[in-house]
Amino acid sequence: MREIIERERRLPVTDSCDVLVAGGGIAGIAAAMAAARGGKKVMLLEREFALGGMATLGLVTIYLPLCDGEGNQVIYGIAEELLKLSIEHGAEANYPAAWLDGGSREERIEKRYMTQFNPHLFAMRVEQILTDLGVKILFGTLVAQTVVEDDRITHVIVENKSGRSAIAVESVIDCTGDADICHQAGAPTELHGNGNALAGWYYYQSNGGVHLKMFGLADVVPDKEEAPKLAETADTGDHYKAIKVESIGNFRFSGVDGAELSKSVVDVHAKMYDDIMSRHKDDESYLPVTMSTIPLVRMSRRIAGAYTLDDSEERVHFEDSIGLTCDWRKRGPVYEMPFRTLYCKEIKNLLAAGRDISTTDRMWDITRVIPPCAVTGEAAGTAAALGSDFTALDVAALQQKLRANGVRLHTDEI
Ligand SMILES: Cc1cc2nc3c(=O)[nH]c(=O)nc-3n(C[C@H](O)[C@H](O)[C@H](O)COP(=O)(O)OP(=O)(O)OC[C@H]3O[C@@H](n4cnc5c(N)ncnc54)[C@H](O)[C@@H]3O)c2cc1C
Repeated sequence: MREIIERERRLPVTDSCDVLVAGGGIAGIAAAMAAARGGKKVMLLEREFALGGMATLGLVTIYLPLCDGEGNQVIYGIAEELLKLSIEHGAEANYPAAWLDGGSREERIEKRYMTQFNPHLFAMRVEQILTDLGVKILFGTLVAQTVVEDDRITHVIVENKSGRSAIAVESVIDCTGDADICHQAGAPTELHGNGNALAGWYYYQSNGGVHLKMFGLADVVPDKEEAPKLAETADTGDHYKAIKVESIGNFRFSGVDGAELSKSVVDVHAKMYDDIMSRHKDDESYLPVTMSTIPLVRMSRRIAGAYTLDDSEERVHFEDSIGLTCDWRKRGPVYEMPFRTLYCKEIKNLLAAGRDISTTDRMWDITRVIPPCAVTGEAAGTAAALGSDFTALDVAALQQKLRANGVRLHTDEI
């Protein structure tokens, strides 16, 4: 490969903050909310021009369960607050009446605590809430680089319409979904072993109704029984064969290669177009209303943190747990998530949240969905409100704050 040397140049330091949240998906929203509520000056930088990431721009509008499938709520705090907010004006489908309006244990076992929401209203509402909390949102802003001195990020370098500039930071929470900041800062990272399969969701109108089309692979909770063979696989063909809605080809992509990502989107658009046209032939009213406008990436790159959680650690007690997650794919399993999965020893003022936390490939498939992303986002934001050397943070103080906000930390609390 031919190379050039980029010329050194002086950059203006255009802003500063206590907590810089990179990426405004579910994890970034939760992190920014928690850090701002903790009294910090927070900036939220988002490459696109709306909040919500995969959950809104990707049209992944199914808020997966907060419960273990056996009638017990496992996930609380901001994750539940966001679920309620997402259906503030009504659910698109699956309103969790048994959980929100009072239902029997049997009804809560029958219908897990999950819902389908409107992505546009949700994106607007979280924006209002963050703005009210004093969070400074910079849209259309890519975090392009970090400046690291003495194991700490001192500045992030951003690019937007104004050009390239630097922001001085006390701490950074990487919520980019692809651990971009961890990678840029030289923190250890890992790629997912099996890449991503094509998907591109869209809403369509037909006969006067508007519906969600989970085009490509979808994360669908099996209705009653757990899907077969889930335990043996993580994001493999087999796994999704058990629960797939529709497969649209064998191409797999890493999620961290620019050209490959574009190819995945072009391929999905072509297949989506064919899908729409084939349906439109039989039903003239079948037309797309909106489609995902960011690539649908499940697992790409993550931090290799101080601890890496595995799916075999079901109900294992961790002293430094910052919250719980269930397994959206099956009933029963509950996991404590250690604070150590959010940081590495190498960059002391950096946290990862959402899709970026430190898990094995098998566990990643559990922690990458909306509820656990909100749990780790809340924990990261709360931690950043308490200090900026996360390798030496007072974890008991963090846990006390999380508990005060309703988060359950250990499996014996459910
Ligand atoms: C096909 C598919 C189906 C799914 N189905 C479901 C489902 O039914 N239910 C469910 O709960 N979950 C589902 N998920 C998973 C879930 O939607 C996401 O994993 C989760 O929402 C991720 O949240 P996040 O905040 O970690 O990351 P993301 O939502 O990916 O947010 C990351 C944000 O960071 C921004 N960003 C990225 N890089 C930069 C940068 N360098 N600078 C600035 N901004 C940046 C992005 O624009 C984005 O807004 C699905 C995922 C896929 C791919």
